[in-house]
Order: sequence, then C-alpha cells, then structure tokens
Amino acid sequence: MKTRGILHDEKHAARLLNMTCDTLLFLKNDGTCVDMIVKTENNPYVNDRRMLIGENIFTFFPEETVQELKPALEQVAKKGEVSNANYNLPAPGRMYFFKLIAHKYDDEHLLCQYRDITIRSQMKRKLEMANKRLTETGREAKIGYWTYNTATRTIRYEGFVGVVMDIETEEVVSLEGYLEHVHPEDKKKFTDVLERADMAEEACEFRIVKDRTYYLKLKIVSVYHDHNGDTIIEGYVQNIDDIVLRWDRMKMLSLALDSSNDGIFATKMDGTMVFGNKFCRKQCNLTMDEDITKYKAYEVLPKFENKEAWEVFIGRLKENNNAIQYVWDAGKLREDMVSFDCSSFIFRNDYGEDLIWHLCRDVSERLRHEIELKKAKEKAEESDRLKSAFISNMSHEIRTPLNSIVGFSTIMADIDREEERSQYLDIIESSNKRLLMLIDEVLDLSKIESGTLKFHYSRVEVNDLCREIQASHQLCSSSTMLLLDLPDGKLFMKLDKNRVTQVISNLIDNAFKFMKQGSVTLGYRMIPGFVEFFVKDVGIGIPEDKLEVIFDRFERVDHFVPGTGLGLSICKSIVERMGGDISVTSEVGVGSVFSFRIPMEDARTEDEKNEIKPRLTSVPRKKTKEKATILVAEDDEDNYALIRAMIGREFQLLHAKNGNEVIELFETKHPDLILMDMKMPGLNGLEAAMAIRRKSPAHPPIIAVSAYAYEKDRKELLENGCDDFLAKPLNRETLLDTLHKYV
Ligand code: ADP
Repeated sequence: MKTRGILHDEKHAARLLNMTCDTLLFLKNDGTCVDMIVKTENNPYVNDRRMLIGENIFTFFPEETVQELKPALEQVAKKGEVSNANYNLPAPGRMYFFKLIAHKYDDEHLLCQYRDITIRSQMKRKLEMANKRLTETGREAKIGYWTYNTATRTIRYEGFVGVVMDIETEEVVSLEGYLEHVHPEDKKKFTDVLERADMAEEACEFRIVKDRTYYLKLKIVSVYHDHNGDTIIEGYVQNIDDIVLRWDRMKMLSLALDSSNDGIFATKMDGTMVFGNKFCRKQCNLTMDEDITKYKAYEVLPKFENKEAWEVFIGRLKENNNAIQYVWDAGKLREDMVSFDCSSFIFRNDYGEDLIWHLCRDVSERLRHEIELKKAKEKAEESDRLKSAFISNMSHEIRTPLNSIVGFSTIMADIDREEERSQYLDIIESSNKRLLMLIDEVLDLSKIESGTLKFHYSRVEVNDLCREIQASHQLCSSSTMLLLDLPDGKLFMKLDKNRVTQVISNLIDNAFKFMKQGSVTLGYRMIPGFVEFFVKDVGIGIPEDKLEVIFDRFERVDHFVPGTGLGLSICKSIVERMGGDISVTSEVGVGSVFSFRIPMEDARTEDEKNEIKPRLTSVPRKKTKEKATILVAEDDEDNYALIRAMIGREFQLLHAKNGNEVIELFETKHPDLILMDMKMPGLNGLEAAMAIRRKSPAHPPIIAVSAYAYEKDRKELLENGCDDFLAKPLNRETLLDTLHKYV
C-alpha cells in the first residue's frame, strides 16, 4: 500500500480520525452536539451510548462544568481562537477531569477534542497533597531537605531548620562554606558521613555554631547519579535543639535524684514501677540499666510484701486525700538500715493519668543514736542505782563487823570467865577478818580500775597449790568440808600463786556462803592449751537469767545475804588478765560449778612418767597454744575495727580489703580460717571464695558474712565453697561460737 502522504489523503481521513486517542465532539455554536467519535468509555456523559448526540452540552453537563466551559466555547465561536483548558466533571460518586481543545470549524460549528485526564489529575492532586504534608511536617519538626553533589561539592538545601540557611528558601552553598559553621569537633564526623554516603541510611549528630550552638541531626536517604553522571547524595537535616535540651534537663534531674541519699521512685496505681533513682534501685537489687518498668513495686520492694498489701496501701493513700506519711521498718533487710521515713502522694499528669511518687529517707542513723543514747542513759541510771546500793551495802558490811569489834572489845575487860572471853575473842577475830577482806576487795577494785593490779609469776605445782588452799580452808573453818578432785602426778605452771589462790578462795567462800549443807569440791583438769580449775557446790544455785550478770560489779541475786557483789567481778578481771576466762553452770536447788581457765603457756610436767595426759573433754578447742590466724576480708575500716574488738584478743587477725587481697594473703600467710564479707570492691567475696576453692577444695574453712540473709543467698554461698554463713549485723557470741566450730 502506498503510504507516503497518507495523512493528507482524504480517502484515509475517516479511518485516521477514528484512530486518534481523543473523543471528538462536533457541536453547534449554541452547544448542541451534532456528531461524535467516542474514545472515552464508562464516562456518564461522554460514552459509547452516544447519549450526547442531539443534546445541548450546556444543559446536559453539570452546572459546575458548564460555568467554565460555556464562556470558553462562546469565545472560540466569536473570536476563532483555539481554547485549551482543563475542566472538572462531577458525577455521582466520582469526580472526572477532562481537557477540552476547542476549534472553530465554521461560522456555526465547533470541533472539540475531549480528553479524559481523570487519572492524571488524581495523581497530581495526590502528589500535591503529599508535598503539602511533607512541607507541614518539615516545618513542625524543623526538617530541611538537601542534596549534595560530590563532583561540584555543593549543597542544595530547602526547608525549615533555619540555622545556616534561611527558612524555606532554596539555597546552594559550597561544602566548605557550610563547614565554616560546623563545630570544629564535629567537622570530621560530618564529612565522614558524606564520604561514606554510598551506604545510604548513614546518620550523624553535629553542632552548628552561630549566635549560639544548635544541635542538628543529619540523615542520608538515597544516593543516585544525575544526568551529568555526578553522584548526588540526598537526605534531610533536623534541628534537634529541643530534644537535646530536654534530654539534658532530664539527665540533670536524674543526676540530682541519683545523688540523693533518699530513695525516690514512682509507680502507677497498679504498682508498675516507672522510675527509681540509684538508691531505690540498690534497695531493689536492680542495676542502673535494667528496665524498671518490668516490675511491680510489691515484687521488688519488700515493704509492700505482696499484691494484697499494695492494694491496702493504695486504699489508705486514697482515704488520706492522696498523700500519706509512714515509717517503714527495714531492720531485717540490711544491717546498716533500720528505718525509713516515707511519704507517698498521687500526682496526676496532663493526660489525667495518676502516678504515685514515693520518697523514703533513711533515718536509721538517727534511730541508732537514739537507741544508743537511751541505752547509755539506762546504763548510767543503773550504774547510779548500783553504786548507791553498794554504798549503803558497804556501810552495812562495815558496821556489822565493826559493831561486834567495838561492842565486844569494850565489855572484854569486865568478863572474868576464860571460856566466855575466848568466845568473844573468836567473834572479834572473825569480824576483823571480814573487815580486812572487805578492805582488800575495795583495794583490788580500785587497782583494777586504775590498771595497777600487778602479777608476780613463779613456777607453781598445781596439785600442791590446791592442797594448800584446802588445808588453809580447813584451818579456818573445820565445820565445812572442802574436797579435792585432782589428776594424778604433778603439773608445773608459771602462775601468780596469790592471784590464783585469791580467785579460788573467793569461789570457795561463795560456795559455802550459798550452801546450807554439804561439801564443796575443788579440782582442775587439763584441756588442750589450758588448765581449767573448778569449784563445785551443792548449794542454792543461781537462776538462769542471773548467770550472765553475776560477774558484773555490784550484782547480787539475794540482797539479804551479806556481800558486796564485787568478788566475782574481781575474779573475772584477774582471770582475764591472766589470759583466761571464767564461767558458771548452775541449777537452782541443785548447785553451781564455777570454772576458770588459764592458758598453759609455761606448763611443764616434772618428768615424762608423771606427765598428766590431757583428758578429752567436750569443751571446744577454743584456744590452742598459738592463736589461730583468721583472715578477715572486709572493705569497711569501721566494720573491721568492730570485728577486731570482738575477736582480736582470741585470734591473730589478717586484714584484706578486697577479693584479690584475700587470695594473696591466703597464698602467702595460710590462714586457719577466712571470715569473708561478700560485698567488696573488685573481686567480691563469692568470687574470691570460688577462686580459693579451686586452689584448695577443703581448707581453710570460709565463713561468709553477708547482709542478705535470704535462704537462697545462703544456699548459693554454701554451694559455692563457703562452709558457714553469718548474717550481718554480727553478734559477738554467735561469731565466736561459729569460729570455734572450725578453729
Ligand atoms: P558477793 O558474794 O559479795 O555478793 P560476788 O560477786 O562474789 O559478791 O557474787 C555475786 C552474787 O553471785 C552473789 O551475791 C550471789 O547472789 C551469787 N553467787 C555467787 N556464787 C554463788 C554460789 N556458789 N551459789 C549461789 N549463788 C552464788
């Protein structure tokens, strides 16, 4: 087929017209549609059904469309110029858009190209909306958009950051020009990000210094090549002044709250923790970076115990006008915390949500002082009472023998009968003795108080000493029976004979004084490292609650029996000065056994044959010839001083302040036992115990000391190498008992 000039060949005109993409409307100048070629399907007005033919489009089309279309077509008919415009075509349920190009065909007719642009218009509208949204968001969030051309090293920017470039204007600036404003410390960071930009998603925060410092965040969104082949990096930059400022303020506040010595925390009404300062986290055993919101207050704070207790607390809070004050006694939890003064109040935020803030002040120190003061006051009062009682007692004790001495001395001269005179002389003599003894006791007491009580050691055979005491007793008091219970053989010791005699005689005198009938037994036995003397009677006995105190000055069980209450206290001081101790076991109505132990440091048997073998006794090996060495691991100087005061006389102590020192001293000094505080800097107690057990599985015994006395803590320690567990605060007796179990 001949195709050259086909578009101008009239034969093909109708076919070609049909193939064009626009709908063609042939209209009269008044708007009546005379003919049409339809290309738009599904249009309610212009469609295949050719509904338009014979209709006047100015009455057929919707009013809104006609308002704009009619003047345009009239203009074309009048002036003959082509009109090209877009129109809305509202239809029920949908908006159509069309472009109409109208030509003047002849004086009476118009030819119009009708093109449906609904889809394109809708896209355009969406694009406009998206742009608008982006602009609004950018303005609100202070975001600017930029592209950086790596070849020309220029930044093209538009947006709302408003720091280096003006708000909302599109500007182009060189990288160097921009960098002039970047904080010197951030320049490298900034250029690094641009260099690494082939990895999109790169981001960095940097500062701009102008009239003040601004904080910005830069983020790369995409990297592409432009029509010149230059690499273009595209991204946004956001002004984060507000965020940084708020963050700074938050940090400042949390720092202030964390450095407080009070526990400060906040919860929701259902108990969910929302905030806890450092002190509070410590109480809850939570680290600073742990998410506290996972917990309920009653799960981590023992004061609320459980959910039910929490609900009771909330009830009370509400009843009390949303604010309460109360005292939380936390004595059981940690030895250095006893009590907290707490206040809780409900705070409603701007959204109407309720938060409870809790402030807890540790008042343990103050309470402890109060308790100590009270104790000191009671002690002072007690001591005052005892001293007054002592003075009146002394006056009685002095007057009674003095009365006899003075009375009988004056009538002595008038007595003729020898027998009567001798009877009175006996009374005067015994009163003399009683008076002298009293003066001795008072003198001893004053020497003990002034620290001038002297000891003179010499080699003494212990059996002989006991026999001497028995003989002198029998001499003075033939009516009472003092029995001896002595091991065979001879035992030589270095002793202050007079002082030991004084103690034993005092115990014997007491035994007879508090016994109506029966005999008293004096004896001794050997236990490892010690000689233990005992005086046993079958007298009235001592009530259990008095056993402890009778060794204190001026303490007496029965105030009607003559005495000063000084004897046992003097005995105790003497025995302790000799490096020993004194104790009593007694049962009311059955009798008492007083025993005291003296270290056998210089005890020597006379010869091997006569050697007295130590009898095995149930008494624990409290003291050996050489003091056992205890390694005390304790980082706190005061706590160490306390332990030293408690056990320093009985044991040789080594001090380690952290886990590493413990291991070092364990290796170099080979202690007999380790008393290990669990909470220490560096390597803690548990880690040190485990390390030692790896080197030496059984020895030395390790006694863990911890404030956390929960069963699970105790179990963990015992399973990991510790042999025993002591809870803080330490009590001297429990501590000694536990140590004696092992050394
Ligand atoms: P004193 O005998 O001068 O009162 P002590 O200090 O020697 O003073 O004794 C204190 C108290 O201990 C006595 O008053 C008595 O109540 C009690 N006591 C001491 N020894 C015995 C004993 N063998 N049997 C019963 N009670 C005793």
